[in-house]
Amino acid sequence: MKHARAAREFLRNGPRTDWHDQALWYVRQKRDLQKDGIPDWEDLREQASAIKEHTLSNLDQYLEEFETNALRNGIRVHWALNAQEHNHMVLEILQQAGVNRLVKSKSMLTEECQMNPFLEKKGIEVIESDLGERIIQFAEQDPSHIVLPAIHMKKEEVGKLFEKKLGTKPGNHDPQYLTGAARKHLREHFLAAEVAMTGVNFALAESGGFVVCTNEGNADMGIHHASIHIASMGIEKVIPGKEHLAVFLRLLARSATGQPVTTYTSHFQRPDRDKEIHLIIVDNGRSEHLGKDKFWRALKCIRCGACLNTCPVYRRSGGHSYGYTIPGPIGSILTPRVDLKAFSDLPYASSLCGSCSDVCPVKIEIHEQLYHWRQEVNEQGELSRKKKLGIRFMGRLLARPRLYQKSGKFARKALRITPRFLVYNRLNPWGLSRDLPEPPRQSFQEWYRENRNKS
Ligand code: SF4
Repeated sequence: MKHARAAREFLRNGPRTDWHDQALWYVRQKRDLQKDGIPDWEDLREQASAIKEHTLSNLDQYLEEFETNALRNGIRVHWALNAQEHNHMVLEILQQAGVNRLVKSKSMLTEECQMNPFLEKKGIEVIESDLGERIIQFAEQDPSHIVLPAIHMKKEEVGKLFEKKLGTKPGNHDPQYLTGAARKHLREHFLAAEVAMTGVNFALAESGGFVVCTNEGNADMGIHHASIHIASMGIEKVIPGKEHLAVFLRLLARSATGQPVTTYTSHFQRPDRDKEIHLIIVDNGRSEHLGKDKFWRALKCIRCGACLNTCPVYRRSGGHSYGYTIPGPIGSILTPRVDLKAFSDLPYASSLCGSCSDVCPVKIEIHEQLYHWRQEVNEQGELSRKKKLGIRFMGRLLARPRLYQKSGKFARKALRITPRFLVYNRLNPWGLSRDLPEPPRQSFQEWYRENRNKS
């Protein structure tokens, strides 16, 4: 389903839309407060951007260095070209261990690889241990946000779901009570876990170790009981070393949730005695993306979610309307590479206000890439006829200043006398959720001509 249509579904529930909008804006404001407390914030962003650009420009070298050191530490390293290879590798590790249950912490990469449905078809039970992920797993939905996967659900809905799945008291949707019930339920799985899986936030080339950031400690709970730890990372997660890690850790949690640091920042260097760590390094289209002159910088993303929280389109259309694992502004520049035809509308799901680029801790020029994708969509012949006609018409109008001025004058007059129902009706989707301000009597140009000589 195209974004506009899916967004319309989300918008049908007005109170939910308002609440979703406000909840994410609250997170954005928390981020601003944290940022304001760091005088060298802009320097940190510059540094983070430079580190990522340097690493991505020398990725082969850093990945090899990382692999050599990880192997030396006793970590088993696997390379997966695509999602299928990744999923088969996880399955093989589980089968070799004779295990049919996997306790897993949040990993957007495994969502991207559609790993859970694959494993479930092969008879493996996957237990999501992040609270938000467990909620949407119970609800049989996809995450709608990369950091807050169940942000689209209200506590009353979670309460109802837990009544059914965990036998909580009917009508009790107190968040503390529900969290307590989830904790008790997950603890049994942590204690029984033989294989646990995590994502990777940063992989350090100089040491061969990697870092996983969570707020719930669920990654650590799973791993410490299990004898096998599987970690999956995209090739872009590697950074040179510890001093670079410090830059990202100062930016990540502040940008994501407005916290000074994630509650748990766990470093994995080598497996404990009698335990195994398997690290799967996944490409899945990233190398191809890296080769795209205008778009490779999108791989700098550290998945903080700040661009989602600030985006007026995301906040009022919900994550599911994007139809892919990574929604919001960053999703709209990563997704078209997956299937330009299917996702040709996503670069248009933006006002190009640039707020996403302003908050991005690694300074990805997101709105500029969205604009470049729009050109690419047109060049590849994927622009809808309606849009093409509209753009052609506006192009001609804007190229003729006199005609533009006359049209403006006419439109201002016409709008003043046009009956309201002719503008605000079902045939004009623009007017369904917007109201035009009173048209001014004169254009800015006319006003300027009249006033420029007045002191
Ligand atoms: S693009 Fe930037 S702001 Fe958006 S999730 Fe990635 S790092 Fe965060």
